Amino acid sequence: MGTTAQRSDVVGRLDLRMLVGGARRGSQEAMPTYDPSTGEVIAEVPVASAVAVADAVEAAATAQPAWARTPVKQRAAALQDLAGAIREHADDLALLDAVNSGNPLPVMRQEVDIALSVIDYWAAMVHSLHGRTLPLDPDNHHYTLHEPYGVVGRIVPFNHPLLFAINMAASPLITGNAVVMKPAHQTPLSALLIAQLAQQTLPAGLLNVVPGGADTGDALVTHPAVKRIAFTGSLAVGLEVQARAATAAVKHVTLELGGKNALIACPDADLDAVVDGAVKGMNLTLCMGQSCGSTSRVFVHERLHDDFCGRLAQRLSALRVGPAYDAGIDMGPLVSAPQRDRVLDFIGRGRADGAALVTGGADLDGLDVPEGGYYVRPTMFADVDPSMSIARDEIFGPVVSVFRWSDYDRLVRQVNDVEYGLTASIWSHDVDLVRSLSRAVQAGYVWINDSATHYWGTPFGGYKNSGVGREESLDELYSYLQTKTVHDIATTTGADALARTLGAGAAAGPGGA
Ligand code: NAD
Repeated sequence: MGTTAQRSDVVGRLDLRMLVGGARRGSQEAMPTYDPSTGEVIAEVPVASAVAVADAVEAAATAQPAWARTPVKQRAAALQDLAGAIREHADDLALLDAVNSGNPLPVMRQEVDIALSVIDYWAAMVHSLHGRTLPLDPDNHHYTLHEPYGVVGRIVPFNHPLLFAINMAASPLITGNAVVMKPAHQTPLSALLIAQLAQQTLPAGLLNVVPGGADTGDALVTHPAVKRIAFTGSLAVGLEVQARAATAAVKHVTLELGGKNALIACPDADLDAVVDGAVKGMNLTLCMGQSCGSTSRVFVHERLHDDFCGRLAQRLSALRVGPAYDAGIDMGPLVSAPQRDRVLDFIGRGRADGAALVTGGADLDGLDVPEGGYYVRPTMFADVDPSMSIARDEIFGPVVSVFRWSDYDRLVRQVNDVEYGLTASIWSHDVDLVRSLSRAVQAGYVWINDSATHYWGTPFGGYKNSGVGREESLDELYSYLQTKTVHDIATTTGADALARTLGAGAAAGPGGA
């Protein structure tokens, strides 16, 4: 796997500068970026100032009109060129993410393949976009055109750095926009390699990459020429993005935010399958539970509850925690020291509130991990009361809470009694129960007898405070296009038009008669 030499080599070879208008650019200010497996600083990355962001927006605005006039087939071909470069650098991209985010290396290698397939999906789906004709009156032609916004600002979270950087650039690009992207301040490295590959394969200015933190993101959000903002991140920052965008202009802002998602095991559920589904649903081996869609609240019917708790605890405690690039691990560290401390704080509050800590917790005894790394064992609470903070707030870490249920109406009330509404996972083979629950849960993405899997082509997004807008589908492509309605009013008859055309042809000289 990633040896020490390979890790320092992949970071050492990287051009750490931002990408603005097809050129690399340094900055006065820099931010340290870390290897969460060891806690060591591995690079100093430039922080894009408001001036650099404004330059990126201007470059994007300059490049975009020619790109919008490029037929989609050619846009798709340009993105395939980028995909080819990504394929050639797949190992470096995966290693950069493992080193910089703490996500296990084999999983990051799979995410490169997912990102490549997403480019294929967008290239295929873009051919299915269509406008409408509106049959209002027989002689006139009323129809809609879908036109790109121009410059799209995309702000990316830390949990899937390369997958999000690729996918979140590709959808606005294929629809004819130019993009200014801000990677997460914790995990900028793979986006900077993608910047290098874009510099080699795409027209200058189409994709700009501006690393930095809140100030850089805010400069993008409040730039008056960026009409379309797509933000993926926490609820607190999402609310700020919405408010700050409104201070600059009327903008189309979509938000993909957090979740406090429920998995519901009904009395007839297959216990083995539910335990598998609960482990998978937490995305532990993908990103240590740091996933918006993680099913961190597990409601188990009393008939299964005690057996379920025993088996889930066994499965969680068997997961091997270690450095993200070491062979044989199931889980790496969390992304940063603040993220680790936040998760440990929730675990402490859960214990103080009286929930039963069944496995995991703050203790790292027996783990063979570097001292400075940000590790947290997979943790399970039982006897959780819905009023506790571990039951209400998004923890965004490897912490799952198990609830016992028996009454249907009370279950539905408790499942929905949180401000989030992103995903839900329902386990039963009783058709009536499944049908009823899938309608009762307030969530935008619902699995029946499954969890965690994303099906590209189907709309993904949240109810309530989990967000606004839908991604991973045609809905996402349409969201990067604004609608123009054209009223093409007939001003003459067909016969008059033919006479005029014949007249014009006669006037044109030989062959016109
Ligand atoms: P975050 O909100 O802290 O940061 C997200 C991005 O916003 C980062 O790039 C960050 O640098 C930037 N940012 C921070 N402050 C900003 C500001 N004031 N203005 C503009 N940009 C700013 O989130 P995070 O910790 O990176 O990611 C975790 C959160 O993301 C969780 O809540 C998770 O549920 C959510 N998430 C949602 C989805 C989804 O599809 N719904 C997917 C992944 C993650």
